[in-house]
Amino acid sequence: MRGDFPTFSFEFFPPKTPEAAEILYQTIRDLELYMPHFISVTYGAGGSTRDLTHDLVERIQHTTKLDPIPHLTCVCHNEEEVEAILVRYARSAIGNILALGGDRPRDIPYDKSRDSFQHAVDLVEFIRRFNESGAHPDRRGFGIGVAGFPEGHPATPNRLVEMDHLKAKVDAGADYMVTQLFFDNRDFFDFRERCVLAGIHIPIIAGIMPITSMSGFKRIAELAGGARFPAKLLRALQRCENDPEGVRRVGVHFALEQCHDLLDNNVAGIHFYTLNRSDATRVIFDSLGIPRRRSVQVSAI
Ligand SMILES: Cc1cc2nc3c(=O)[nH]c(=O)nc-3n(C[C@H](O)[C@H](O)[C@H](O)COP(=O)(O)OP(=O)(O)OC[C@H]3O[C@@H](n4cnc5c(N)ncnc54)[C@H](O)[C@@H]3O)c2cc1C
Repeated sequence: MRGDFPTFSFEFFPPKTPEAAEILYQTIRDLELYMPHFISVTYGAGGSTRDLTHDLVERIQHTTKLDPIPHLTCVCHNEEEVEAILVRYARSAIGNILALGGDRPRDIPYDKSRDSFQHAVDLVEFIRRFNESGAHPDRRGFGIGVAGFPEGHPATPNRLVEMDHLKAKVDAGADYMVTQLFFDNRDFFDFRERCVLAGIHIPIIAGIMPITSMSGFKRIAELAGGARFPAKLLRALQRCENDPEGVRRVGVHFALEQCHDLLDNNVAGIHFYTLNRSDATRVIFDSLGIPRRRSVQVSAI
C-alpha cells in the first residue's frame, strides 16, 4: 500500500458471466480515475470462482495502474495449494494479500478439519514465513491485511476472547486491517479504541457499503451476519421503500455522512464495498471533494 493516509480503496468480486465482466471492467475504468490506493478482489469458497479471482487480479495488475490485493482464505485449501498461489502472485509482483478465515461453502460438503489452516492467524503466519524465505521479488514480501469486525464476529460471542484472536493475527505479522461493513460509526470508533487497549496499533481501514436498493439492503442483512442497522437509517429507507431512486439517494447520502464523520475522526482509510458498480462510490467521492485525476490514461482492461 502507498504510505499516505487516509487511504481510499474499492472491493470487487470476480464476475461469472461475460456481461458481468464487461460491467466490472467499465467500473474499474470509471474508478481508476480516482487513483485509489488499492482495490481488492474477493475469493470464493471453492471451485472455479477461485481461478476467476487469480485471473482478475493478474489482469488488473498487468493492464491497469491499480494495485490489486487478492483475498485469500483458509477454506478448502492445503499448504501446497496456498504456496502455489503465493508463488503465482509473487511472480506477478502482487504486493499485498488479505488473509482471511473465509466463509463456509454453501453448495459443497465441507469438513473444516481437513483444511491446513484452521484460522486466519495460521494463514498470516504461513505468508510471513513465505516472505521470510525471500520468495517474493520485493524484499519486504507481501504486505498482509486481515479482517476486523467492529460489531463483533458471530462465531466468538466473547468479545474479550475475540480481541485476543485479533491480536494474535497482528502478532503473527498482519500489517493492516480492513473492517466488515458497519452503519453506525460509533461501533467503529469504539472498536478502534478497544484495539488500542489490546495493543493493536496497525492501521484500521473502515469498510463502507452504500445501500443502493431494498433488495441489496436485505442481502447485506443476510450476508454480513449480525450487521446492525440504526433506526435512523431504517426510518429513512421506510419513507421511500417503494421508490428505487429514493432508496439509492438515501443509501448514498447515509454512506456519505459516515465517510465525512470518519475522515473528521482521522480514519486510516475507507474501503468501499462496490458490488462491482461505480455510480454510488463516484457520487460519494465527488461529494467528499476527492479529485478525479483526469490526466490518468484510461486503461485497456
Ligand atoms: C474485509 C473483509 C473481506 C472479506 N472477504 C472475504 C472473501 O473474499 N471470501 C470469503 O470467503 N470471506 C470473506 N470475508 C468473510 C470472512 O472470511 C468471514 O467472516 C470469516 O468468518 C472471518 O474471517 P477472519 O479472517 O476474521 O477469520 P478468523 O480470524 O479465522 O476468525 C474467524 C472466527 O474464529 C475466531 N478465531 C480466530 N482464531 C481463533 C482461535 N485460535 N481459536 C478459536 N477461535 C478463533 C475469531 O474470533 C472469529 O470468530 C471477508 C470479511 C471481511 C471483513
